[in-house]
Amino acid sequence: MEKIKMNPIVEMDGDEMTRILWKEIKDRLLTPFVELNTEYYDLGLPHRDETGDQVTIDAGNAIKRLHVGVKCATITPNAQRVEEYHLHEMWKSPNGTIRAILDGTVFRAPILTGMIPAYVSGWKKPITIARHAYGDLYKATEYRVPCPGTATLSFRGTDGTEFSKTIYEFECPGVLQGLYNKDSSIESFARSCFSYALTTKQDLWFSAKDTISKQYDQTFKLIFQRIFDEDYKAEFEKAGITYFYTLIDDAVARVMRSEGGFIWACKNYDGDVMSDMISAAFGSLAMMTSVLVSPDGNFEYEAAHGTITRHYYRFLKGEQTSSNPVATIFAWTGALRKRGELDGNAPLVTFADKLDAACIATIRSGTMTGDLACLCGKTGVTSVAFLDAVRATLEKSL
Ligand code: NAP
Ligand code: MG
Repeated sequence: MEKIKMNPIVEMDGDEMTRILWKEIKDRLLTPFVELNTEYYDLGLPHRDETGDQVTIDAGNAIKRLHVGVKCATITPNAQRVEEYHLHEMWKSPNGTIRAILDGTVFRAPILTGMIPAYVSGWKKPITIARHAYGDLYKATEYRVPCPGTATLSFRGTDGTEFSKTIYEFECPGVLQGLYNKDSSIESFARSCFSYALTTKQDLWFSAKDTISKQYDQTFKLIFQRIFDEDYKAEFEKAGITYFYTLIDDAVARVMRSEGGFIWACKNYDGDVMSDMISAAFGSLAMMTSVLVSPDGNFEYEAAHGTITRHYYRFLKGEQTSSNPVATIFAWTGALRKRGELDGNAPLVTFADKLDAACIATIRSGTMTGDLACLCGKTGVTSVAFLDAVRATLEKSL
């Protein structure tokens, strides 16, 4: 069989166990079939440290140029990692750096195999969470109020506008918090959500609490509606998908009664909470994918899990580990499929679909890594044995 040709994508290598899996996936499942064309950036912690983290910035800019990237999990250093890797600095999270360059929204979705029943019995299709990863509680200013007194919320504009409102006349000690968000960030969030809904042909739900938060959450609701009406309504109709806004409490009730198969856009805090709820309810963190979508149509695919440090330390001792490579394989197929779609490269899209299907068929046939095996009463195989089984299934389908 002749290898499939492709235009370049950005490849970002990473750390620890996932770096080991990265190479195994390429060697066993990709390069035998595809003439992999990637611009390679080594985001492994040692190389980030050598380059003063410039390599992360270069990778982010490369995604802007090539529009598609695939990233391996990377270590976000803390004090212990600074010591372990003798770092010059406690470098920032690569995901945060790349997100800031692309101004994107992260979409997380579970990979369903039919083998692990969802805790919510009605959920048959994946639920994708889109979290607005900017502002609100995560950039709040807060302090304790020590004694009775008056709290005010004030603003001084560069044009001389001034507002001041009483928040509360404290008659005893208490707490106080100031939140903000900005129209430009909410607009980018809305555009990323609409564009991803079109890409994946799924309905989009957006929830907030505008009945209570009549300015703050209302602003989110109005911006979403305006952008939808101006730029996406016609395309949604053509694609046969819908957008609707509802209150967060109503959304939660509807999600529970739904069968899945839609995107749920959430404000920052809601998304933080709901994405963990969704991934836990679908069974396994190792089976969650994640894609960063920028409002101007750049896509970066990765697994939602980290570098699986505990397995890596066992691997270093010479043990064969049973780390689950599926979410990392899906990151690759997501990127290859998107590349294929953008370029009209049908063989590449078909290959990505077949590799996804081979992973799922392999698991359904009973061959799986330990994390899944223990959920369905089977015995797990090593990562390498699993990859070989996927390859055998894939070869049959090609
Ligand atoms: P983690 O790597 O996601 O692993 C936590 C635990 O979850 C593992 O010990 C393992 O449990 C299980 N697990 C996760 N993925 C798995 C897989 N593919 N197959 C089998 N089991 C899996 O999280 P962490 O240990 O908290 O973080 C490790 C490093 O990853 C940190 O340095 C962190 O900064 C980084 N991180 C990176 C990203 C990213 O790049 N997107 C995201 C999160 C964390 P058992 O040990 O019980 O088997
Ligand atoms: Mg969380």
